[in-house]
Amino acid sequence: MDYAEIIDPATGEKVAQYARISDETALEKVQQANSAFKLWKENSYEERAAMMYKLAEVMEEKKEEYAKLATQEMGKTIGQARKELEKCALICRYYADNTKKLLANEKVETEAAKSYVTFQPIGVILAVMPWNFPFYQVIRFAVPAIMAGNTGVLKHASNVQGCAEALEKAFSQAGFPKGIFTNLNIGSKQVKKIIEDENIVAVTLTGSDPAGRSVASIAGQNLKKTVMELGGSDAYIILDDADLEKATDLATYGRLQNNGQTCIAAKRFIVLDAIYDDFLHRFTEKMKKAKMGKPTDEDTYYGPMARHDLRDEIHEQVQKTISQGGRLVLGGNIPEGKGAYYPATILADLKPGMEAFDVELFGPVASVIKAKNEAHAIELANNSQYGLGSGVITGNTERGEKVALQLEAGSSFVNKLVVSDPRLPFGGIKNSGYGRELSGYGIREFVNTKSVWID
Ligand code: NDP
Repeated sequence: MDYAEIIDPATGEKVAQYARISDETALEKVQQANSAFKLWKENSYEERAAMMYKLAEVMEEKKEEYAKLATQEMGKTIGQARKELEKCALICRYYADNTKKLLANEKVETEAAKSYVTFQPIGVILAVMPWNFPFYQVIRFAVPAIMAGNTGVLKHASNVQGCAEALEKAFSQAGFPKGIFTNLNIGSKQVKKIIEDENIVAVTLTGSDPAGRSVASIAGQNLKKTVMELGGSDAYIILDDADLEKATDLATYGRLQNNGQTCIAAKRFIVLDAIYDDFLHRFTEKMKKAKMGKPTDEDTYYGPMARHDLRDEIHEQVQKTISQGGRLVLGGNIPEGKGAYYPATILADLKPGMEAFDVELFGPVASVIKAKNEAHAIELANNSQYGLGSGVITGNTERGEKVALQLEAGSSFVNKLVVSDPRLPFGGIKNSGYGRELSGYGIREFVNTKSVWID
């Protein structure tokens, strides 16, 4: 029997194991999801919404239990885990309130007696999801897909299988019939067979570039639609009129939230020459003060990374950047002890061609880059294979907006860290992926946008 083993990243100890299912069992479950789809698509939005409101309640009732589970499996701080569950409830209510409006028929004036566009569900969607927001990432896919009338099967990351099981139970507790949301505890090698199965109509993946390329190419071979939400190396431009206290508060939280493992985290700080030294000094002081510790302690600012291999990988990236001429200002060492801890680290004076400039650093490591002027800052920000989020910090919002509009990214925020909000589309360009999640744009990814003409 093959198991997904769960190692608590704070202690390095094995805390649980979950038996993987065979290909045959997984395909049977996909078949059940398709049978469930045939009935589910006939339900009204009101009937689906009633269960979605219940799911929001379950997320709130079980908040403490689920938060502890996430903290144990992937190391996020308990406070941030609770916030994640609150956001899950928010998404459930957003789509329960709005799906009818978002997917209402759109009348089109033509020569027909009547013509319109209607949005119909398409079937079973496979979601391949990561560990960094083990509840939220899944809910962000599943809630709109299911409200639209589809059903979903989940291949969750191996290290958060407890969260995956909890999610399946939560849907069941909220009253969703069997087969509407199904957890498949399979390894990544088993995903190909699932994508190829005739009952799967589309795939969504959040995760790394290699996982995305593999899944998208298999889906492409089978002419199945995909949405890809991959990594990013979001640039934040700090203009010379910025309030540096605010800028460094945002930078510290932005880089350390979720222990540095957020796709839309602020990763590259591009600072104008005139304020570079001042910014770097204040930022270093704040990063130094942020408390690294047990994720279960309420006053911990950031905890361990999710897995030991990911911690070792980021350390190698830091070392490589230093060998390429990057300046280590803070951190950069693996602490003693069994946990997958990595300290808040700052690399400065970075240039294109260096690892920490070119490649995503998925951990508590900030890259600081000096720009000669505003135009140079924009050029540096856009000099990236990624295009997920981006930001501008400035004392002049008009100037900030002008800069924001020139950034190559799926989102550009002025004087605020990029967050996902159910009312706004979320996703990237370039190697950060394609397609959108959330809002009306997200829910329309997995529907048949159908033209109807009555002559
Ligand atoms: P992965 O992309 O490997 O994992 C994400 C999901 O994809 C998991 O469910 C994983 O399963 C699955 N998966 C991995 N490879 C394949 C494959 N070839 N075919 C099908 N499914 C696959 O992320 P990691 O955990 O390895 O993290 C590595 C890097 O990914 C990070 O450093 C970061 O750059 C990026 N990442 C980005 C995230 C984002 O929010 N955009 C979230 C998490 C990671 P399994 O766990 O069983 O391998």
